[in-house]
Amino acid sequence: MSDDNTQHAAYDSKVEGNVFFTKVDAAINWMRSNSLWPMPMGLACCGIELMASGASRFDIARFGAEVMRFSPRQADVMIVAGTVTYKMSLAVKRIWDQMPEPKWCIAMGACASSGGMYRSYATLQGIDNLIPVDVYVSGCPPRPEALLEGLMKLQKKVTEEESAKAHFEADSARTLETSKA
Ligand code: SF4
Repeated sequence: MSDDNTQHAAYDSKVEGNVFFTKVDAAINWMRSNSLWPMPMGLACCGIELMASGASRFDIARFGAEVMRFSPRQADVMIVAGTVTYKMSLAVKRIWDQMPEPKWCIAMGACASSGGMYRSYATLQGIDNLIPVDVYVSGCPPRPEALLEGLMKLQKKVTEEESAKAHFEADSARTLETSKA
């Protein structure tokens, strides 16, 4: 919108209060960051704290993230909560791969972040060996408040992304692939 239009909207009392200006990135990021739908990957004791964060005392709904989805195609943030054994890790990776872009990951607790106390042949030493992690939440187990703080950190990260640019780059890459085929 030109400067003239901007001034017009700013001084027209008929539209004042009903119009605001923003950047596409800011609008997309605002919507995304306040509607993160978790894929709850509760694998051990940390999963109980994850469940508690949805209860009324902690109320994860205050952050728009109460829509826990057990279908990867409807989720955009995987919360890995618990010990990741090698046996389970491939299932976690498969579910991650089935989640659509854009997607984010929170490693909740010592086990998910680093294997925790389990320096054993059966335990993956951190889910970041398999999938990219955006936020690590420390603790064994972390309290629900710690998870909520991690969620707020993720929201902040999402609000700083160049969403529109990423979308158009992915779109032009897809168009290029289609034209080559
Ligand atoms: S970090 Fe502690 S509480 Fe969480 S899954 Fe590992 S052992 Fe259990």
